[in-house]
Amino acid sequence: MVILKTARVIRKMREAGRISSGALREAGKAVEPGVSTLEIDNIVRNYIEKQGATPSFLGYGGFPASACISVNNVVIHGIPSEKQILKAGDIVSIDVGAKYDGYHGDNAFTFPCGDVSKEAKALMDATRNSLMEGISKAVAGNRLGDIGAAVQRYVEARSYSVVRDYVGHGVGAKLHEDPSVPNYGTPGRGVRLLPGMTIAIEPMVNQGTPRVRVLGDEWTTVTADGKLSAHFEHTIAITQDGPVILTLPD
Ligand code: MG
Repeated sequence: MVILKTARVIRKMREAGRISSGALREAGKAVEPGVSTLEIDNIVRNYIEKQGATPSFLGYGGFPASACISVNNVVIHGIPSEKQILKAGDIVSIDVGAKYDGYHGDNAFTFPCGDVSKEAKALMDATRNSLMEGISKAVAGNRLGDIGAAVQRYVEARSYSVVRDYVGHGVGAKLHEDPSVPNYGTPGRGVRLLPGMTIAIEPMVNQGTPRVRVLGDEWTTVTADGKLSAHFEHTIAITQDGPVILTLPD
């Protein structure tokens, strides 16, 4: 069931989004050769808790950290570790959620660690742009398929692929609500978008095959062919005045 939010709730979600976005920004500043992914996780947790919020991911389904940190061929759900030390040339996808005053914000960004290859940079740029393409279709009266089709078209036109096994989602009092928001689809198909819907759009884009597999820790999700993957996400509200990105700083 899709829960429509009042303007008051959307204002609260904007606060949660501001905190999530701030945590992600701080995490990104820490991405440097020699830093462990656990150090970045600690920065995220401290930032969120200092704002009087709670890390949405900590303990979610048993997830052991506050951020998912997914390096290079890891698509999503990478578990921060003191043993994982970032090196120059890595691309580092960080996914962060914060719950504040009863509502969640959820966002992700892929950061370059030092100088990265031209190919890695192009993949990151395409993924980020595909998110913005998707957001531009998050307009009342459109359908979910319009969002997915816009992301997919942008990505595939650049010979990358869109992950199918994981999708975006509604966000609200729960981190994951209806509807599912695929990064692929057919224009004009799917649930109709209404003012008051709040959704996370989060393209996961692979250099090679769209296929992924989950490692033995039951979280870490990697590309099936070992090639790179990037991930960008915003939580947005669909309003009478168009899409509003909730996960932005001031
Ligand atoms: Mg999400």
